[in-house]
Amino acid sequence: MAGRGDRPDEPAMRSRSGPVRAGSGRLPAPAAPIAPLSWDYAPAPESREIVTIAPEYGLFVDGEFAPAADGAAFPTVNPATEEPLSRVALAGEADVDRAVAAARRAHELVWGPMPGSERAKYLYRIARILQERSRELAVLESIDNGKPIKETRDVDIPLAAAHFFYYAGWADKLGYAGFGPDPRPIGVAGQVIPWNFPLLMAAWKLAPALAAGNTCVLKPAETTPLSALALAGICQQAGLPPGVVNVLTGAGRTGAALVAHRGVDKVAFTGSTQVGVEIARALAGTGRKLTLELGGKAANIVFDDAPVDQAIEGIVNGIFFNQGHVCCAGSRLLVQESVAEQVTERLRWRLGTLRLGDPLDKNTDIGAINSREQLDKITELAAAGEAEGAHRWSPPCELPARGYWFAPTVFTGVSQSHRIAREEIFGPVLSVLTFRTPDEAVAKANNTQYGLSAGIWTEKGSRILWMAQRMRAGVVWANTYNRFDPASPFGGYKESGYGREGGRHGLGAYLDV
Ligand code: NAD
Repeated sequence: MAGRGDRPDEPAMRSRSGPVRAGSGRLPAPAAPIAPLSWDYAPAPESREIVTIAPEYGLFVDGEFAPAADGAAFPTVNPATEEPLSRVALAGEADVDRAVAAARRAHELVWGPMPGSERAKYLYRIARILQERSRELAVLESIDNGKPIKETRDVDIPLAAAHFFYYAGWADKLGYAGFGPDPRPIGVAGQVIPWNFPLLMAAWKLAPALAAGNTCVLKPAETTPLSALALAGICQQAGLPPGVVNVLTGAGRTGAALVAHRGVDKVAFTGSTQVGVEIARALAGTGRKLTLELGGKAANIVFDDAPVDQAIEGIVNGIFFNQGHVCCAGSRLLVQESVAEQVTERLRWRLGTLRLGDPLDKNTDIGAINSREQLDKITELAAAGEAEGAHRWSPPCELPARGYWFAPTVFTGVSQSHRIAREEIFGPVLSVLTFRTPDEAVAKANNTQYGLSAGIWTEKGSRILWMAQRMRAGVVWANTYNRFDPASPFGGYKESGYGREGGRHGLGAYLDV
């Protein structure tokens, strides 16, 4: 992922005393005391004019947009301003029936029998349209989600297109993917996704399912329906046969009706562990296939021989990218005791340079929290951190008067029993713990109910391998963090879920093998 500080030639960071080169491998003198933010960049807003948001949207079923059967609808708002953006149809059980029936027909009559080489053409077409309309989609995603435009522009939209390109390449080569000479699709996939990477999550789900010959009913999150509806429009634009992709907007009840529907052969869910458990319970004994991508509480582990400046960038990228609304976020920093003071001091300095504000401003590092509900959850857990005795710190930071905002926050003096070290906060809050030996780092990193990801920062290759073998985590990054690639499998251990998405593994989840 092209996150902040990924390149060794990252532009100079700014302090009041002038620019300080990142990546020098040497600790520059920290600006002491930590300088207040100097908002010395002129605003550089991306134009909102490029995207047209309709006052209302229907459900996308059988190739057409139409209102919910009972006419129900709900608003979606801009979390940075609380301004209502549109009203979106709220799918009920009758709509779920209709969408699943359309997907079944499309699977049996069109998409299932279609040669893989023909399916690939549609996926390539969708990928190219995503690229062509990338600026518009980036703005739309920032407005509906609250995330900074530089992230939607550089990460969400390019990666969504990359998933369609990647899986288009597999569509006519399924017989060579290691699942036998003629692997068959499963049928109709019911897919439920969260709000943190709305378009990207839709692409993660749809692209492998379609490449493998399945048809889909997708339910986006209730706070971020707009980019999934835009993707439905792109399916129309690409001439995708009706019923191959259906998009049902709605909240938890719509999702529950979809996953419980008897016409759905395979369920793919990304979201909270709590809902994942409910879905696993609902599907138990039905024989239907299920993959779950759930929560995380990853350890980002910094050894005393780590290149400190790069590690600082990796820590910042690990927890403050996308406001920390990332399942694999490095929310627990484990730092070796001998360098803990240096690292936290340098981190504080770096946080003082982050810019929080208008998601459409190209200079913005930290955007809005996605919803009032999520803001309340973050606020509650941060308060618990203080109440349990950890030391809370945020850089001086002015929060906009309207919208949902939370300043980047670091807790030091955290112990493993604290809620902020155990529970997923899903916000811009970092808990710092220390360790003395590699064994202790392993024990603390694995001391969690989750197992989605981990980061290791050290200059010793042998230590990276030693640590990676011992991490109970689906993804382990070494001297980098939050990097994603469509060819690479992604998924969890323990309560982070089961099954893998991405790469060849992601195809297997949609084949009857
Ligand atoms: P959530 O579980 O509340 O909601 C996720 C989706 O499920 C939404 O579309 C929601 O409407 C739907 N839903 C809610 N209740 C449902 C039910 N009973 N049956 C079916 N669907 C239901 O999660 P969230 O708050 O939207 O997302 C944040 C969570 O997602 C975090 O825990 C995060 O770690 C996780 N997540 C995991 C990954 C991953 O790949 N492992 C990626 C992104 C987010």
